[in-house]
Formats: sequence, structure tokens, C-alpha cells
Amino acid sequence: MINKKVILKKYFGYDEFRDGQGELIDSILSGKDTLGIMPTGAGKSICFQVPALMMQGITLVISPLISLMKDQVGALNQAGVHAAYLNSSLTYNQYRLALQYAKEGRYKIIYVAPERLTTEEFLEFAMEADVSMISIDEAHCVSQWGQDFRPSYLKILEFVEKLPVRPIISAFTATATKEVKEDIVRILRLQSPFVLTTGFDRSNLSFSVQAPKDKYEVVLQYISENKGKSGIIYCLTRKEVEEVCDRLNQEGYPVTRYHAGLSDAERRNNQDDFIYDRKLIMVATNAFGMGIDKSNVRFVIHYNMPKNIESYYQEAGRAGRDGEPAECILLYGGKDVVTNQFFIENNNDNEELDYHTLELVKERDRERLKKMTYYCFTNDCLRDYILRYFGEYGENYCGNCSNCLTQFEDIDVTAIAKQLIGCVQSCGQRFGMGVIVDTVRGSKAARLRQNRMVENDFYGSLAGKSAILVRQVLNHLLLKGYLELTNEEYAILKLTEKSAAVFHEEETVIMKLSKKREDTSKKAKSTKVTSSKRQLDVDIDTELFEVLRSLRLEIAREEKVPPYIVFSDKTLTGMCQIMPSSEEEMLTVSGVGNYKFAKYGERFLEAIKRYSSASN
Ligand code: ADP
Ligand code: ZN
Repeated sequence: MINKKVILKKYFGYDEFRDGQGELIDSILSGKDTLGIMPTGAGKSICFQVPALMMQGITLVISPLISLMKDQVGALNQAGVHAAYLNSSLTYNQYRLALQYAKEGRYKIIYVAPERLTTEEFLEFAMEADVSMISIDEAHCVSQWGQDFRPSYLKILEFVEKLPVRPIISAFTATATKEVKEDIVRILRLQSPFVLTTGFDRSNLSFSVQAPKDKYEVVLQYISENKGKSGIIYCLTRKEVEEVCDRLNQEGYPVTRYHAGLSDAERRNNQDDFIYDRKLIMVATNAFGMGIDKSNVRFVIHYNMPKNIESYYQEAGRAGRDGEPAECILLYGGKDVVTNQFFIENNNDNEELDYHTLELVKERDRERLKKMTYYCFTNDCLRDYILRYFGEYGENYCGNCSNCLTQFEDIDVTAIAKQLIGCVQSCGQRFGMGVIVDTVRGSKAARLRQNRMVENDFYGSLAGKSAILVRQVLNHLLLKGYLELTNEEYAILKLTEKSAAVFHEEETVIMKLSKKREDTSKKAKSTKVTSSKRQLDVDIDTELFEVLRSLRLEIAREEKVPPYIVFSDKTLTGMCQIMPSSEEEMLTVSGVGNYKFAKYGERFLEAIKRYSSASN
């Protein structure tokens, strides 16, 4: 029998299952109903897609959102899996054709909107089809306790009961509260299910809360220090989305917007701009993001406090899906509470709800808002606060949130600045940021030897300083005009008229830096802290990364798919670390499966080869 790990590698390119995935898949394959509760980004899709590929018949995936289906089906087809979706975005003819193909057995996985299930046409197909499994994504939608109750989800049971043979049912959600869990099992009538809740912690995400006077300034500062990174800025109201987006646009940042007040066409267009990396920053209301599986989102800033922790964690969780470090920043203002209260009291969105249900929902919403507000005021570990909310108890220290780290401090970084400027000058202003940072840190990277930078006077002059710190200072110097970057494909660092003053220490450079608490208690040395530190310190050849990134963009344009569907940031990082020179080596990179290798492998190998010989 084919092994699940082989499937994982062949179609998805991954070597290892993540926490919980293996157990959930085994449970499904053993024929049991299965409920998986995992945080956003943990990898729920793999849990039903892998067994779907191993089972005899078809898997039907029930999913609430059209964009989510489109995205997942697109990714599956890219990976060489025959999949389709059936929802209201198809014209009638397209729908009939898709059903026809489904009947012919062309698809292994079919995504269906819940309201389609009990239509005559779909039933006619389903009664004849060999359905091995029904997989329910976002299963909390069946529960009134959940933050997103959808009465159409109640049709699932009706549908299942009509089938001649009951398939296995698997259900997945990111909502872990006890009430929701019980509702899912009860309402979907899961039969002695295997239930697994994986850890909700996403250790690659850092959390912070700020209550600034001027939120816009904070955003501006942040994105100016994080140029080239993709991120989402969530606002509570459409008006705020417009304002923030317009201002950033005027400042020349690559932003786009999304809210329910825009035309369908504009929304689709803007969403694609973001997904395809044509616009790096999305300013949006919470209407944006469900089903967006963009894996290289490096930050999520909440311009306003959202309505509850579920929403916050889900929205913030759209950062760092690739497992690389990412930041989640919440900007709190007293007005946010009032706006949210207004939304709750005037919530008449869900026309499917009767009066009593609606009152119940409001009451629960008020309670959730309170807990969200406490999050903004607690002095305890923010991560711990969230995990406790979802019923998980950990240590009250993560070392990677704004409460665990002390507030910003003004630090004199003149000494570091001096070394960087000196290094740029002494090498004749010929290199980009990666080489300079590596040189002053005394890295053993091969390209330094090739460029004879190991003989440079400043080689190793900042040995022992973290790459992050050195980079932060370097960015600060760029920002303040003490150095500048050229606009070429490989940006080169150049001196400015302000450089000399710093080099001769006539001018001091002060910078806001976060500093760890002095108190290094035992807790502070927990493995979590070291592992997130290690991730952050990964030193890669950023120039090669950029080369691979442009190749990825080129391929994405040719294939008309988002770049992250070709390969994730994490996979590109892996290529930079391993520098593969053969197919075997390439296949050891996480995210490179046989199917993708056949499609793109050679081009990436070629690019790496060209890059290494050029820097010789
Ligand atoms: P969820 O639905 O739980 O929010 P997804 O299923 O969208 O999460 O997965 C999030 C990301 O993690 C995707 O980019 C997916 O390809 C990646 N992923 C899932 N499983 C693995 C794995 N075993 N190894 C590496 N990456 C994985
Ligand atoms: Zn913390």
C-alpha cells in the first residue's frame, strides 16, 4: 500500500508531517470519523487531501467560501491532483460540465458549497458516485457558539442522511472552545469520532500591542522599515480602509484595498494584486482574508482592535503561514471598543437567524469583545493570554511578544554604524546589504572568500552581534540617509554626504530598539524562546534569495498563478541554504516534490548555478 509520507512528498513536496497531521490522517484511513482542531496556518488541508488521494473513491470537501475553494483547487491542480469546485461562481453551463466530469470520475477531490448539497442536480450525482469521504472545512460554522454561524451548514447532515452509503466524515476547524467542539460532534452526528486538538501556539509569530496617539505614524514607520515585505493592515471600517490606503498610496507604497463596499470586479482585482505580489500591502476590513492562503505574509497590523480573540487570532494568523518569522501588531484605541459595540448592537447581517437566536448571538459577542479588550491591557504574556482563551495552559512567558520583551529603548548604535559605513567604503561601494552584513559579522559564507571580503579591514569587526541587530542598524542608516541603496536589480550600498560624520563619530546615531527583560529567569530559557531565536537568526544569501524570487515571479506570471503556489518563501530559503546542484539535492529542499521538480526544478537549478558561477 502506498504510504502517506510518499504522497506528502510527491504531491506537496514536504518531508515531514506537522504536529497532528499524521494522527489525523491515520484515523481517517482507519475508517473513523475524525475531528481536527488546529490553529489557522497549522495545515488542516493536508489532513484531508492526503487521505483523499489514498482512498478508493471521491472526497467531497464542504467549504463556506468561494475564494477559499478557488485557491485550494488551484493549488491542487498545480500539484498534479485532479480537483474541481462547485459553487455559485460558475455559470450554469460550467457547473453542468463540472458535474459531468465528476460523473465520469475525472476528479479525486471536489469542493462544494454547503447550499449546493441538497439541490436535485447535485444529489443525483452524489447518489451514484463512489464517495469515500466528506470533509468539512471551517466546521465551527455549524455552531451558534462559533463566531461564524452559517445555517446552510445544517444542510450537511440532511445530505449525508440521503446517501445510500454513509462515507467517513472528517471535520476541521480553528475554533477550540468546548461548546463549539461539542456542537460539531453533535450536529454533524459524528460516530465515535477521533478528536485531536493540536497546540494552538504559532511560535513563529510575534505579538505586540501598542496604544499610540497617532496610529498612522506607527504604520508608516513600520512599513518604511520593512520595505519589500508583504503584509495586511486590518481596519474596522471601510472609511478607515480608504483613508489609510490613500495616504500610503500618496507616500508611494505599493498598497491596495479591500472591503465590502467595492465592486466585485475591484475586489477581485485588488485581491489578485496582493496575492500575485504586484501590491505588497493590503489595507482591508475583515471582509478580506478568508481562504487567502498566501504563505509569505510577513506582518499583519490591526489598525483597530477587532471584535474578538477568534477573529484576531485568525486574522493575525494569516501572517507567517510558511513557518518563517512574522509579526502581528495590534494598535489599540479607545474608540475601537465603541465601534465594535455599535457593530454588535446593529448586527442584523445574518438574515437566517430568528430573534431569539440573534439575541443569544449578541450576548456572546459582547462577552467576546470584553475578552478582546482585556488582551490590549494585560501586562502578561500576550501569547499565553490567547492560548488560555482557547483553553490551553502554558508558561506565562514566550519571549516573543511585546509584554515579554521590554518596551522600546533608545539605544546609541553609533559604534555599529561606524563599522558598517567603514565596510561599505573600504570595499569600494561595490556590494549589497547581504555581503556587508556577512562581512562585518565575520561569516564563513563562500561568497565572501570569492569576493576577497575576508581580507577586508572590517571583516569580523562586529562578530558576535546578531544578524538581526546589524540589519536593523543598517536599515536605520538607510532610512536616515546615512547610506543609500541603488535602484538596480542587485541593489548596491553607497555612501552619502552624511556618512562621514558618523564614521568620524562627529554624529551619534540613536535608534529605538527592543530589549529583552534583564530578568533571565529559568522560564526565559525555555525551548520556545531558543527555537524562535534560531529561526530569526537564519543567515541566508539574500541576493540569491532575490534572484530566486524574481524567477518565481516570472514563472508565476507565465502560469498565471500566485508566486507562493510555485514555491513558498520557506522553500526558496531552503534552496539558498542548501544551494542544490542536482535533482537529488533539489528534492531534499522542503516544498520541492517530484511533480513540482518536473515542472520548475531545472530552471531553479540553472538559476542557482548561474548565480554561483557569477559570484566566483
Ligand atoms: P490551515 O487550513 O490550517 O489554516 P493550510 O492547510 O492552509 O492551513 O496550510 C498552511 C500552510 O502550511 C500551507 O502553505 C501549506 O502548504 C503548509 N503546510 C501544510 N502542511 C505542511 C507540512 N507538513 N510541511 C510543510 N508545510 C506544510
Ligand atoms: Zn510573551
